[in-house]
Amino acid sequence: MGKLLIVGTVAFDAIETPFGKTDKILGGAATYIGLAASNFNVSSAIVSVVGDDMPANYLNLLSAKNIDISGLEIVKGGKTFYWKGKYHNDLNVRDTLATELNVLADFNPKVPESFKDADVVMLGNLHPNIQLSVINQMTERPKLIVLDTMNFWMDHSLPELLNVIQHIDVLTINDEEARQLTGEYSLVKAATKIEAMGPKYVVIKKGEHGALLFHKNKVFFAPALPLEEVFDPTGAGDTFAGGFSGYLASTRNISFENMKNAVIQGSNLASFCVEKFGTERMVTLNKEEVNKRLLQFKELSQFDIELE
Ligand code: AMP
Repeated sequence: MGKLLIVGTVAFDAIETPFGKTDKILGGAATYIGLAASNFNVSSAIVSVVGDDMPANYLNLLSAKNIDISGLEIVKGGKTFYWKGKYHNDLNVRDTLATELNVLADFNPKVPESFKDADVVMLGNLHPNIQLSVINQMTERPKLIVLDTMNFWMDHSLPELLNVIQHIDVLTINDEEARQLTGEYSLVKAATKIEAMGPKYVVIKKGEHGALLFHKNKVFFAPALPLEEVFDPTGAGDTFAGGFSGYLASTRNISFENMKNAVIQGSNLASFCVEKFGTERMVTLNKEEVNKRLLQFKELSQFDIELE
């Protein structure tokens, strides 16, 4: 069984969408990545930090999915990372109303001994120095290091972000962030510039418009499944990253051809995530539902054209 090491926030999220509002529910990049990856045959562990205000039942939810949380530090008297976001009627647009780092501000990650030889390391969204510290603790170079980030870290810690990016294989990033990072509007040019920064592969996520995988002069596009109702897009990007990295860890095949499948797996899982608030849908998701929708993805994007 492949091993997947996940780093990222485990958070309290307060979310407002045109369809409703929640206060302080379980969220965080590592949470969504872990839940998504649990759909594959992988042994996974989360390295993160929370305060003792995090209810045990939220953490049990991760253990119940066989995610090793021995690397999840609980700081006594500490407050968990908090994020508040509001979506517009166009759900592709969201405003961040609050980001409180709290215990994350002085976090010193410790990779569990048994995961220092993980096949795939998924560096979810958090401070780039924490992401780098995790890479440095690996005793063997992982087959694949994937990194996800967001505009917050570009605004606050760009030099550190540019440094960690030199050590990774795949960068997953959304379209606006790729433009911000490179100053290029064209996503093709942006991907080329990012490849020059270090990563051999670049995945650009375009929300309800799918995702693009770039490698040298090759490009692959996966659509997002057209859904009748999207309830809450929070975590879709992380769920994509969890599906992508979880699939690659379980198959232990990091060829470009297999990465195409990984992009589809990520897109498929993200399509479930957005159907309910927070992590609700990912917690109840089962294999049969996942496989049924994979077939829909196939039908959506396959065609047989005869060239004259
Ligand atoms: P996504 O919708 O996939 O971009 O990710 C949303 C998740 O990212 C939420 O659950 C938040 O807790 C988490 N998040 C928001 N801002 C940050 C940040 N600056 N660093 C790390 N995680 C964040």
